Amino acid sequence: MRNAPTILHLDMDAFFAQAEQASKPSLRGKAVVVGGLGPRGVVATASYEARVFGVHSAMPMAQARRLAPNAAYLTPRFTFYRAISDQVMALLRALSPLVEPLSLDEAFVDLEAGGAAWDSDSARLTGVRLRTDIRAVTGLTGSVGLAASKMLAKIASEQAKPNGLVLIEPGTERALLGPLSVRTLPGVGPATGDHLRRAGITTIDEIVEAGEDELVRLLGKAHGHGLYAMALARDERPVVAERETKSVSVEDTYDVDIHDRLRVGLEVQRLADRCVRRLRGAGLSGRTIVLKVRRYDFSTLTRSETLRGPTDDPAVVREAAARLLDSVDTTGGVRLLGVGVSGLADYTQEDLFAQAAGEHPLGSEEEAAVPEETRPAASVPAEHSWRPGHDVRHASLGHGWVQGSGLGRVTVRFETPDSEPGRVRTFRVDDPDLEPADPLPLVPVRPSGEGGAARADGGAGPEQTGVGSGAVGG
Ligand SMILES: [Mg+2]
Repeated sequence: MRNAPTILHLDMDAFFAQAEQASKPSLRGKAVVVGGLGPRGVVATASYEARVFGVHSAMPMAQARRLAPNAAYLTPRFTFYRAISDQVMALLRALSPLVEPLSLDEAFVDLEAGGAAWDSDSARLTGVRLRTDIRAVTGLTGSVGLAASKMLAKIASEQAKPNGLVLIEPGTERALLGPLSVRTLPGVGPATGDHLRRAGITTIDEIVEAGEDELVRLLGKAHGHGLYAMALARDERPVVAERETKSVSVEDTYDVDIHDRLRVGLEVQRLADRCVRRLRGAGLSGRTIVLKVRRYDFSTLTRSETLRGPTDDPAVVREAAARLLDSVDTTGGVRLLGVGVSGLADYTQEDLFAQAAGEHPLGSEEEAAVPEETRPAASVPAEHSWRPGHDVRHASLGHGWVQGSGLGRVTVRFETPDSEPGRVRTFRVDDPDLEPADPLPLVPVRPSGEGGAARADGGAGPEQTGVGSGAVGG
């Protein structure tokens, strides 16, 4: 293990919720919950104000609503979060070629490999600067952990949250780890945690006291060895670039379990189509098709099939998904289905299959023929579904976001990232003056020092709001 704290772990603070608060002035300082809003949706991120009520990620949305009935409940805007993520990852890649993203808002960076740091002082300075740069570029805060290993860097960033920096000096690792819960160690989930607790082991010190043989006896050879080494702060895992989850996926949770096999098949086809739309929307194609099935008893299976080459053809994805479904027993009912495409050229939104993390995907590596590149003109009907939290534009009132909808009405709050908290107006859902809009940047795009290439963000309509001075050059 290296002897300088030059592995950096960055984790944006309550990322989705913070991004929403930054773009919606009326939500700043308020409890905000982002996630699936259906009856079986789960919380993706809760703002720190919502966490006070006990709301946390992966919690069923219904439970969150009971705990924090007055919080703002918003559906995620992944394209928006991804644009911010790209800015953050670019700052990390400026520090080192070895950047290992773990999700949209989290990554390891090997500072030594990039020459950005070589000892405690230079590492701390780099971390401080990075946090400042992230704030300046994105308008958001992230927390930084610095240590001599990945495991400890991640523990450090957790301790730094929110909006802080923690550096673990080499030599202090054992003392720091000792009193912490075994659950702090990577690879110790609820099941392993329970198993260890029944054996009287709850802290990392107790793992060390129990000894390696006992760990191997309790957890098996590979897991026991690995965990014992981690408890001694031995973690040699290198930072690996391009390890990110490269997938685009969609999934649906059903209010009532689906029993009809035919219906399950149709749902899978529908999800495959949706997944391809998203894939194409991001300008991507992928090689591996993944099917996820959660059954009535919450057992979750993933099946995958890798094609000879990348595709974004809906027919190919549909067929592969159907083949994968053939190998899954759905008697008893299905509560969730998902279709994903991975093996992409560029990394995409946070893995929506995160709930299956920790379960080892049971991949079936059959090969399928890849058809010629035919692209039927995908005419996707623009459904005006007014989803809470999403951006809209009103012909005369300007930019706002959907606060809620129902009974043929949609409520819009008119505000922008740099405005005062805005006013609320209600419209008929089919009001012709109201249309979906792209998110506004959180940090005003200023002409930069040299040349000042103004970045034009998405669909600039003919009627642009005249902002301040400066002609927009073409
Ligand atoms: Mg985070």
